[in-house]
Amino acid sequence: MKLRPHLVLLLFATIILVSANRLSRQSHRTFAKGWIGRSPPCEEEHWDGRLCDPSHLVDSDALSTKLQQSNLKKVTICSPNPNSDEPSDSVEIAIVLLPNFKHIPKQSFPDPDSEDGDRFITLAAKVLAEELHDHYGVGDPRPPSCSGEEGFDTGILILVSRDERVMHISTGSGVTDFFAMGRIDLIIKAAKPHFRMNQLGQGLIASLERLDEFLDMGPPTRREKFLDSFITFGPFFVIFGFFCAILYQSHKKTQQYNAAKEELNKLEREKAEALAGKYRCKSCPICLEDFKYVPPPPVVNTVNENAEGGEGDGEVLPPPPAAPQQTLDSNNEPVKLLRCGHCFDQKCFREYQKSSASSNKCPICRADIGTGAPADTSGSNSSNTTSNPFRRPRSQNRTRGGFYEDSYEPELRFRLNRLRHRYPRYISSGYVDRYSTKSAQNFAMDPVFMRSNPNPPASRARSSGFSSSTRRSGGGSFGGGRSSGGGGGGRW
Ligand SMILES: [Zn+2]
Ligand SMILES: [Zn+2]
Repeated sequence: MKLRPHLVLLLFATIILVSANRLSRQSHRTFAKGWIGRSPPCEEEHWDGRLCDPSHLVDSDALSTKLQQSNLKKVTICSPNPNSDEPSDSVEIAIVLLPNFKHIPKQSFPDPDSEDGDRFITLAAKVLAEELHDHYGVGDPRPPSCSGEEGFDTGILILVSRDERVMHISTGSGVTDFFAMGRIDLIIKAAKPHFRMNQLGQGLIASLERLDEFLDMGPPTRREKFLDSFITFGPFFVIFGFFCAILYQSHKKTQQYNAAKEELNKLEREKAEALAGKYRCKSCPICLEDFKYVPPPPVVNTVNENAEGGEGDGEVLPPPPAAPQQTLDSNNEPVKLLRCGHCFDQKCFREYQKSSASSNKCPICRADIGTGAPADTSGSNSSNTTSNPFRRPRSQNRTRGGFYEDSYEPELRFRLNRLRHRYPRYISSGYVDRYSTKSAQNFAMDPVFMRSNPNPPASRARSSGFSSSTRRSGGGSFGGGRSSGGGGGGRW
């Protein structure tokens, strides 16, 4: 139920992102096509089909030599003989260097420093690179390939725009497999340090060297493919994980709140029992684990001690009768009953004794626990096994108040403090002060406590804003003919 608002928001965000992307992709294509049709950056007859640098941004000699070497690379694209890995095709690489994006009307540019501007420029570079790739026909179109693909090409076009600080590599469908996104990113990464120092030529040479390495390596390995899909789908995993984490957190908080509430209700019931003089210790005050009551072994007719039940008013009765059932702690050990009447798990009490400086005092009421056997009979070492702390015997040296004041009130505060440690998000020290008094009532109805309910009944779902940005635009659509197959880009 809490899931729905998040999902709806996510759906809306996705639809808006996708449709916005569609729209601008279309307008970018119109700009690019129009410009290339009117005045392509290089007239086909005036360049060697490798480096198009109309504004002379780089030293063309060094770059042309490098390009010539790259263009001779053979790659295995599709061998007529499926059992042979013979390289069968050479790639063709072209570079187009522009001083800026003059094909886009000025008023269409968003603020170049905004995230919108960044997306706009990245997309513009991608579309322009694809259109130029097709226009110049980089990479000869091949006959229908053995894989059945039509008109695939083995061309690669690298587009760089200096002022927009963007680079995009468009790869023909025949070599797209060679340049899964991860590889394209690495090729662009190789150029960035040089580009940042305005050394366009050096950057391009670094990129071409990296590109050559990949051509020599052949198609990506399985590991590369895995990493590639991880990069592509990573943002989705992140968003998905984010929502799962939110859901898990809110589920956990609700669970904790409910557990705290249940403990408070239990404590209030026990307090009422204590006020009525019917209190019996049912759980360890330290770890709050319940004690277990197991039926005693069948009574062999011995002493006339097993009186019925244990209910009665603790104030006036003599020390309690022998237990009708055995009380064991959470570790199935006999409950540790101190002479002050407070009882604990054996293990918890041992740990308390080990860690506390005043280990010979009761952790609740600070009464001396003594070294010998407890004063009351039910607490003696041997009878611990069957001791049943139904009613608290009043310790002899405490006579100023009743059972509640002497014994239960400190225990109530102790237990509330334990709950505060366990559920610090919901129970504060102020809460402990307010509810360890005799008159306090409705433990779980405390306004502050109720306000901390992470899932209040019949409340409005809290709106939680989120933002997401998807940077990567996957393989775009491209028309038939010799269109490019893929690629990637980046800014520096
Ligand atoms: Zn315990
Ligand atoms: Zn005590």
